[in-house]
Amino acid sequence: MRILFFLFVSAGVLQAQTAELETYIEVRPGTLPIILTVPHGGSLKPANVLARRYGVTGTDSNTIPLAEMIIEELATRYGGKPHAIISRLHRTKLDPNRELEEAAQGDPISIAAWHRFHDSAQKACDSVMKKSGMGLLLDIHGHRHLDQRIELGYLIQGDQLKHSDAELNADAALIASSCIRDLDKRSPQSFAELVRGPQSLGGLLESQGFRCLPSPSKTSPAFMAGYFSGVYDVSAHGSRKGGTVSAIQVECPWNNVRDTPEHQRRFAVALAESLGVYFEVHFGRKLR
Ligand SMILES: [Zn+2]
Repeated sequence: MRILFFLFVSAGVLQAQTAELETYIEVRPGTLPIILTVPHGGSLKPANVLARRYGVTGTDSNTIPLAEMIIEELATRYGGKPHAIISRLHRTKLDPNRELEEAAQGDPISIAAWHRFHDSAQKACDSVMKKSGMGLLLDIHGHRHLDQRIELGYLIQGDQLKHSDAELNADAALIASSCIRDLDKRSPQSFAELVRGPQSLGGLLESQGFRCLPSPSKTSPAFMAGYFSGVYDVSAHGSRKGGTVSAIQVECPWNNVRDTPEHQRRFAVALAESLGVYFEVHFGRKLR
């Protein structure tokens, strides 16, 4: 009897924990070969999760409503939704875009939330590969750098972007270490074009009025300028380590992108439009 009672209580605790985790890490299945991860937009600070003691803890404000608009605009254009994994926990409680130790700093609920985030992202990638053969993961962030432009991260450092197109295209080790490694093999364009040509994601967004780095107009960061080249999410789920899902870290500025619902919508429309062209040019397939 006592054992039965214990099992009953344990099952209850487990159920409560599962419900808690589902609130902290929201997982939305999709049908398009696109996965959105949103690690830093959350605001929940549950008292039973210990605060992180070191590392970055600032929120990427408004990246969740921005991602929701991107989902809507993709659905309107292409008749399907992207997969989405959204952390609703504040970054003081969990940073999914880091290795587990720094991300959760030993808190058991935060550890479980980190696993749910990354297991779900991996499941989404596996589902995309099974259904479409290949795909693209966009890791959505917000930055506070002085220069208010969109920073696209391919796991290529700012100083490596200073190399000429010919040097980039000849650097097999660099290409293999990027999170678009598989896409480089598929795209008819060169690696340098894929990263900063007119039909790179930066080039396509710039043609719709959003300044980007890298892009045809800004091929590398200036001396001392801020630039985020990508961290854990794009490294773990992009094609650097294999697979056919490539990844790009999308760092959005506050001004004109995240600041108002109107600007968020304008960016979501531009990104959705750009992705249609991007898939046709580089993946060789239509999104619809
Ligand atoms: Zn971020």
